[in-house]
Amino acid sequence: MSDEILIAGAGIGGLFAALSLHRAGLPVRVFEAAPTIEPLGVGINVLPHAVREFDELGLLPALRSQGVACRELAYCTKRGERIWSEPRGLAAGYRWPQISIHRGALQTLLLEAAAKRIGLDRIHLGHRVSEARTAGDEVRLSLVDPEGGRLPDARGRLLVAADGIHSAVRRIFYPDEGPPSWNGAVMWRGVAAAPGYLDGHTMIMAGHPERKFVCYPIGHRAEQPGHQLINFVAERRVEATELEEREDWTRRADPNDFLPLFEGWNFGWLDVPALIRSAESVWIYPMVDRDPLPRWTHGRITLLGDAAHPMYPIGSNGASQAVLDASALTGCLLAHAHDPEAGLARYERARRPSTAQIVKANRGMGPELPMLLVEERAPDGFESLEDVISHEELQSIADHYKQLAGFSVAELNARPSLSDPRTWSDDDD
Ligand SMILES: Cc1cc2nc3c(=O)[nH]c(=O)nc-3n(C[C@H](O)[C@H](O)[C@H](O)COP(=O)(O)OP(=O)(O)OC[C@H]3O[C@@H](n4cnc5c(N)ncnc54)[C@H](O)[C@@H]3O)c2cc1C
Repeated sequence: MSDEILIAGAGIGGLFAALSLHRAGLPVRVFEAAPTIEPLGVGINVLPHAVREFDELGLLPALRSQGVACRELAYCTKRGERIWSEPRGLAAGYRWPQISIHRGALQTLLLEAAAKRIGLDRIHLGHRVSEARTAGDEVRLSLVDPEGGRLPDARGRLLVAADGIHSAVRRIFYPDEGPPSWNGAVMWRGVAAAPGYLDGHTMIMAGHPERKFVCYPIGHRAEQPGHQLINFVAERRVEATELEEREDWTRRADPNDFLPLFEGWNFGWLDVPALIRSAESVWIYPMVDRDPLPRWTHGRITLLGDAAHPMYPIGSNGASQAVLDASALTGCLLAHAHDPEAGLARYERARRPSTAQIVKANRGMGPELPMLLVEERAPDGFESLEDVISHEELQSIADHYKQLAGFSVAELNARPSLSDPRTWSDDDD
């Protein structure tokens, strides 16, 4: 029997898991459905608790050099008035920065590290996992190529399914789950090379749930000094609750479809319509998630990242939670080195309840709740913000979400890496 840990999916979660397990001395093999890894997507945030795990793998310098450290997050009204702002990353007292980065750059960085450390011969592109089962003390995978042709089966000690929101492995255990659920919000996402705004390190959320604009810098272009690559998400909520097309991160859109919704949003310090107009391309994506599962682990197979807990992209948690899963998985398998099934069970106890809480909190708007409250209480503006919402109310919403998502400053700064087996001895649950 092969003692390899098989990983389905070479996205952010799968590649991070491969690197983390490999560093711990556990042999891995990755199967990715796509025939090539293209730098797809737009911006993504890696929160300090996940950056810490990159640091553990020696990847912090690469992450820093590819992205932009986010120092502040500001919530604003649709007129650009500030409701709440808070320091982020190092400025907030964390020992690790928050990094905003292009998803493609992040995936490429992980792939390059994996190629160097693990070897490309263990990363099989164009290998889609179609079936998976536990047989005694091993797992067996059926694999197909991009044309649907059968490839030789794979065998290993465990399977970690990091195959994203449309996970084929999840479907084996939950065949009746159906498509992800949609909350009626449509997101137009793009990246524009534009003059920097504010200090060049600030993430902005403006508006309210019906119409929202989010932007943050994710990089630079040497040939355009004074400009930054600015990621944006323009969001609108519609009445429909059934998707006409399956969501896909690669569906292009026309900026004129949503530009009129934001036409008046020039705040002086940030010109939203100009930013949208300078985007090279725009993609449309619906806001979807799935209900938390009662169980991730079946025999020697478990789920990780979006396959386990797809969540609304609120609070910048999608990629970060996948990274935390991966590190915790390594720590738990090391803590139960002689009993991998106990290791998987420990991993699930560690990660399933906490990620389910985030899925639910994001449905309730998570840390963006003040934007809704201010719009409801003062849709036509205000003289003093204090008349609309108190500082205490704002603080308690922000603190509550940070606690929930596991990124409270003191706790993160004090605890060891999640890949440390001492964190996961059995006595602490
Ligand atoms: C193309 C793409 C673009 C994205 N762009 C953004 C973005 O701009 N902003 C954002 O916030 N989030 C984006 N996401 C989602 C984001 O990457 C995830 O929410 C988060 O990083 C968690 O990562 P994950 O590894 O669990 O899932 P993903 O990053 O979705 O990775 C899943 C991987 O599994 C592969 N796969 C799927 N099915 C199989 C199978 N049966 N067998 C083997 N491999 C399989 C997929 O090709 C993919 O590489 C994008 C996802 C994708 C796939």
